[in-house]
Amino acid sequence: MIGRPPGMGPASTVIGTPVDRDEAGPVRLPRRKLRMLLPYFRPYAGRAVLAVAMMLVATAAGLAAPALAQVGIDDGIRAGDRTMLYLAVGLLVGAGLLGWLAGSAQSYLSSWVGERVLLDLRTRVFQHVQLLSLGYHERTPTGWTVSRLTSDIEALDQLVTEGVSSLVVNGLTFLGVIAILFGVYDWQLALMAFAILPLLVASTAVFRALSTRAYRRTRERVADVLAALQESIAGIRVVQGFGRQDPSAEEFRRVNAEYRAANMQTIWLSGVYFPGVELLSAAGTALILWFGGSRVLDGDLTVGVMVAFLGYLATFFDPIQALSQLYNTFQAAMAALEKILGVLGTEPEIGDRPGAVPLPPVRGRLELSGVSFGYTRERVLHGIDLSVAAGETVAVVGPTGAGKSTLAKLVARFYDPDEGRVLLDGHDLRGVTVASLRAQLGIVPQEGHLFSGTIADNLRFGAPDATDEDLRRACAAVGALEVVESLPDGFDTEIQERGARLSAGQRQLLSFARALVADPRLLILDEATSSVDLRTERRIEEALQTLLAGRTAIVIAHRLSTVRRADRIVVVDGGRIVEQGTHAELIAAGGRYAALYGDWEAPAAVA
Ligand code: ATP
Repeated sequence: MIGRPPGMGPASTVIGTPVDRDEAGPVRLPRRKLRMLLPYFRPYAGRAVLAVAMMLVATAAGLAAPALAQVGIDDGIRAGDRTMLYLAVGLLVGAGLLGWLAGSAQSYLSSWVGERVLLDLRTRVFQHVQLLSLGYHERTPTGWTVSRLTSDIEALDQLVTEGVSSLVVNGLTFLGVIAILFGVYDWQLALMAFAILPLLVASTAVFRALSTRAYRRTRERVADVLAALQESIAGIRVVQGFGRQDPSAEEFRRVNAEYRAANMQTIWLSGVYFPGVELLSAAGTALILWFGGSRVLDGDLTVGVMVAFLGYLATFFDPIQALSQLYNTFQAAMAALEKILGVLGTEPEIGDRPGAVPLPPVRGRLELSGVSFGYTRERVLHGIDLSVAAGETVAVVGPTGAGKSTLAKLVARFYDPDEGRVLLDGHDLRGVTVASLRAQLGIVPQEGHLFSGTIADNLRFGAPDATDEDLRRACAAVGALEVVESLPDGFDTEIQERGARLSAGQRQLLSFARALVADPRLLILDEATSSVDLRTERRIEEALQTLLAGRTAIVIAHRLSTVRRADRIVVVDGGRIVEQGTHAELIAAGGRYAALYGDWEAPAAVA
């Protein structure tokens, strides 16, 4: 028998498998979907076939036992033939051992195959998710993508490692018992034994319908619990800062109570159904004993046959229960598979076009000509024309929502323009391979994202072959060496997720060093807005000069010093370039920049 259906087990198994609310609708077209899984099984076909063979052996061994008992009783005990009795006993033991061996082998083999298939599938989904364009990731909540790789794969795990073997073994046992009882033994007694079958099937159907609903409710409540948990932990600073721990705990208690209530329903259903099946099984045994026993007394039936009937009846109930449970597993797995295939079926919006060529090493001359773009139908950039000479630093400034980041995303080819072209040394970005473009491009995001791993790993992120000396030199150039050396293990210091142990300024210096190690021709930098102390500020300013020297740079600037030192300032407003020139030129012009500068200077003067 397989385990209880998901959602019918202890709470912990449910907690581990959060799902989205839209799951568990009617399952459509499973055959087509299952066929898409086949290629993943192909490399392990040999073992998969062996596993099925072992399932057949184990089923046959299980089915032989009551028949052997019948032979032992009728041809051994009743016939007074000791040899026959011992032979039956020996065979019974043999069948038991064979069943055990084959059962273990099939369990091992099917898990072996199943786990590998899932590992391959998970890797494939992960690789695909990494390929998907920024547009996809900006539209899709992270949690959604994470559940494709966790709970959905887990739902498939149950089907692949347990479900399939359960289906084969229990299905065959079920059919085997019917065939043996009707065909080999006594059809009248068989009919009597199956008299309770309609009752069992009906109660199983009702249970299945109710439990599917209850199960879905449980999963929805789990999603609520996880959402509440994630939100309060993600926002722990705010929660603690405002002293809102108690209301948070209260909210958590409320969603938990709903989860408990939903869980209790599923447990109550199982509590009625499973012992109910036992009751039916006992009723079946009583019927056989009554009807069969009477016929034995009449001399119409042998004791051995009656015992075999009782034995088969006992093995008959398990498959029915198991198969009904399998329905839930199957349904969850199909819903999961649909979502996984949905991810795999999503094409990256930005990819290599047919005929794309590698971008040759560039000098860094950038040109945007007539570029218009919108994330949706609504335009965010309107006819942008901009020429940046190789080695020039352009500071992009403008009010919030003006389109500065969007402009930078188009230069990095995270999106393609709807109209117009972005050219690097005269090559249209759409005509070159993405990998070759990114290899010559460096991006320093606002929050210098650091990955878990050592400082050295992080610095080598864009240039895996960089030597220790390269790292040291880059750090020294941007003034990050001091930071690294102050850490307990220097370059080998492990940083926690997102560099939680480092200050904002330290993270910035390290992300500059990382960009310097990669040494890109074209650098896109979104200057951090987080305020740091004056000394660090000065250090960051100097580091920035080192980083920008000798390469083309688009800087979404937030610091006055950066803007002033830029070769050119581009003012963006409402998705258009409204002014450009040097600091002195724009101040003299007394336009939009001059006004912005006034705003900037006011707090600076106070400081
Ligand atoms: P800030 O200085 O605040 O970062 P910005 O000038 O960089 O602003 P953008 O981030 O380029 O502005 O945004 C320009 C417009 O595009 C905004 O109206 C914003 O709401 C919209 N926008 C930005 N990203 C997306 C997205 N992924 N999907 C849809 N709309 C977006």
